[in-house]
Amino acid sequence: MIAENMKPRVAGNSVIRQMFEEGKKMAQVVGPENVYDFSLGNPNVPAPRAVSDAIIDILQNEDPIRVHGYMSNAGFEETRQAIAEDLNRRYGTAYRAENVIMSAGAGSALNVALKTILDPGDEVIVFAPYFVEYKNYIGNFYAGTVEVAPRPDGSFLPDAEGLRKAVTEKTRAVIVNTPNNPTGVVYPETVIRQLAEILTEESERIGHPIYLISDEPYRELVYGGAEVPHIPDYYDNTIICYSYSKSLSLPGERIGYVLVPDASDDSQEFITAATIANRIIGIVNAPSLIQLAITRCLDAKADIDFYEKNGRTLYDGLTEAGYDCLEPRGAFYLWVKSPDEDEDEFVGRLKKEHILVTPGSAFAGPGYIRISYCVAHETIVNSLPGFRRVAEEYSL
Ligand code: PLP
Repeated sequence: MIAENMKPRVAGNSVIRQMFEEGKKMAQVVGPENVYDFSLGNPNVPAPRAVSDAIIDILQNEDPIRVHGYMSNAGFEETRQAIAEDLNRRYGTAYRAENVIMSAGAGSALNVALKTILDPGDEVIVFAPYFVEYKNYIGNFYAGTVEVAPRPDGSFLPDAEGLRKAVTEKTRAVIVNTPNNPTGVVYPETVIRQLAEILTEESERIGHPIYLISDEPYRELVYGGAEVPHIPDYYDNTIICYSYSKSLSLPGERIGYVLVPDASDDSQEFITAATIANRIIGIVNAPSLIQLAITRCLDAKADIDFYEKNGRTLYDGLTEAGYDCLEPRGAFYLWVKSPDEDEDEFVGRLKKEHILVTPGSAFAGPGYIRISYCVAHETIVNSLPGFRRVAEEYSL
């Protein structure tokens, strides 16, 4: 007998994964080259060579007891120090190793941050559309997800006034994700300032801090000169959840961190609690070998130009075909308005062309679809005739 808390999670099990499985079956029938699977956000550019070079060197030349042993729950001191210094160089900050807690990717970083602050019945605010797992992560701690609807202007920037209305005495945190999955939007500085202002006022009003949890696995994946503001510069109670899954193409390695700035409320207590949370949710510590490897690769980056070219080709191709798309500024997702009131019907028509995309409803963004463009460039080029045929069916 499974727990009541698990039942809705089983019932709502990932549409994206289902689509991915369907793609595999389709490929057996029509051949993999004829399936255009845009469902998963799995990086398809290889990790930089520096990562495998570092792993080989560490395995050959470092003490195996240290490389494979238990360590402090927060991670290797040298890794945390190197990350702090890297951030200080990039953002002019003064972080120390103590501010950084290594985690198993952004997924566990978010769980650590949420476990640190949530009691049953608390609330966390998210902006629709949003990464599907937030609701599950929040639910892990028996807290509620409060959704703020998108602005009516179609920008998919967070609705600041909607945020104000969503705050209650139970609000403990707001999650933001920029560059954004699923929309590809990057929040400009003005929006961050606005959120910071509202959260400062509302924290004051409700008498406790509202944390701004910044989920940043796509921080380096930005195009056309878009800049991602360093959010703790604008709001003291920011907790950053970072991952190397996308920037270094290492999703299977499970590596990232939680960053707790000194300026945040009770930062020392937060750091202690988050370190314990890392242990007691069962991660114990982030995987050791990859911690040591990334310590040497903080300047490396996966081939971001590849994604930019894919995003541009897809955006131009679909826009020319008559679709209404948000211009991709970051991450590797294109957010497209469904030409059909019933977005599932649109997804079904694309499927007949062997094009697999994710319905926006899977992200609490009905009326849209998400196209994940971390695929071979030919997949995009070869899918365009199918997209055009569907556009003709809708007389776009
Ligand atoms: N947050 C967002 C917005 C994501 O898109 C993802 C993964 O796709 C994650 C968090 C989880 O990333 P990780 O693989 O680092 O756990």
